[in-house]
Amino acid sequence: METDLVINFTYVLAAILFILGLKFLGHPSSARKGNALSGAAMLLAIVVTLLDRSIVSFEWILLAMFAGSIVGIFAARLVAMTAMPEMVSLFNGIGGLASLFVAWSTLEKGINLSQFVLIATMLALLIGGVTFSGSIVAWAKLSERITGRAVVFRGQAIVNSAIVVAILVAGYVLVTQPNIPNIPNILYIAMALALVMGIMLVMPIGGADMPVVISLLNSYSGLAACAAGFAIQNNLLIVAGSLVGAGGIILTSIMCKAMNRSLSNVLFSGFQPVHTSDMVIEGEVKPLSADDAYYVLEAAQSVVVVPGYGMAVAQAQHAMKELQELLENNGAEVAYAIHPVAGRMPGHMNVLLAEADVSYEQLFEMDEINNRIENFDVALVIGANDVVNPAAREMQGSPIYGMPVINADLAKNVFVLKRGMASGFAGIDNPLFFKPNSRMIFGDAKDTLNNMIRQFAD
Ligand code: NDP
Repeated sequence: METDLVINFTYVLAAILFILGLKFLGHPSSARKGNALSGAAMLLAIVVTLLDRSIVSFEWILLAMFAGSIVGIFAARLVAMTAMPEMVSLFNGIGGLASLFVAWSTLEKGINLSQFVLIATMLALLIGGVTFSGSIVAWAKLSERITGRAVVFRGQAIVNSAIVVAILVAGYVLVTQPNIPNIPNILYIAMALALVMGIMLVMPIGGADMPVVISLLNSYSGLAACAAGFAIQNNLLIVAGSLVGAGGIILTSIMCKAMNRSLSNVLFSGFQPVHTSDMVIEGEVKPLSADDAYYVLEAAQSVVVVPGYGMAVAQAQHAMKELQELLENNGAEVAYAIHPVAGRMPGHMNVLLAEADVSYEQLFEMDEINNRIENFDVALVIGANDVVNPAAREMQGSPIYGMPVINADLAKNVFVLKRGMASGFAGIDNPLFFKPNSRMIFGDAKDTLNNMIRQFAD
């Protein structure tokens, strides 16, 4: 009884720390503190769970903690910044798999489980399975192990509906007749169906919609954990799962807004990257050397930097910070314009710029910067493409028409740093490159920035 009290009291404390951690994660300057707080809360939760002998033995928990810490340390140290979205996706998947295992073991050893626990366990099993296989597909798409395009086939809706019906039937049998002899086989069938469903859900979603999928799967992993919490009646798992579930849904809705699409449109439209080459893009591409760009930059009073995925590929953030200091010493104001889906994961640009010690005060959200972008002498577009595509404003037939973008084309001069004329993740041509005030500075973004830096030093 006393142990129960200690455990539940500590769980409440851990839950408060999780909530505070989330709050601190809401701003870049306090994010580290938030991360540390949430980590401490999780450690506290694990340690106190050791007291609850009904879960697993001390040795197993210690072993799992040790193995998890080793994997975590190596993953954080070795994974390249560009591969972060893939890692987030794998982490979501592993969260789902953990819930699936918890549910599986509950059903395997469960005698006389109440209807409520059976329903929660089934939900954990199904959502966990969908999250796991869906996240693996998202990981494979992001890491280009399979095509990033939407994979759609005739009769897909019928196949999906059949899977959903089969899942419902299996779930119904498992919940209402858990003691019939065939139950293990039905359990395996339900698990397999959930795994197939995860694949079927993510395969038809195209590359440009991946940010939404990642945050949605994050939310699913939370919901699965929450259901697993009900299954094994662990209060903290319920709270932590709900927090992740709700956080993921909020992020999903922010991402959908950033792309000007509804969630159902993202999930069911089978968005295919479409080349807008059949649309008439007027103007011509005007290449410029980094040396010539330097003269304009030297005279500029204000520069807005628009980073995108290419900055992550080139690892150009440190060179940009160096150029920023040179520009500021030269009397120019430097601001960074951050699009919510720039890069390949939410917050991708913020992370990179924080790594290069760029002050948070110089980072501006899209709406804030768009209000005054025409006042900037130069917009320096570093490896960004879709997020500065004016087709979203100007071309009614474009697949991204209506998506909010950073209006870099409205600045007095636009320098686009990229290697060639390749399209971005959405596979859409970009009229920005053809505008009269645009100049293309071809080459790896880091090399180009270093060239500019050398010019300043000379
Ligand atoms: P894009 O993918 O649109 O464009 C990146 C550009 O970077 C490419 O056109 C490429 O052109 C250029 N590039 C690549 N390597 C280098 C390099 N070494 N040096 C210079 N340039 C380079 O990126 P954006 O950030 O503009 O847009 C993000 C896109 O990704 C959106 O469509 C978004 O929906 C999607 N997305 C976003 C996620 C998120 O959560 N933020 C997650 C998944 C997808 P070139 O090859 O010619 O150099």
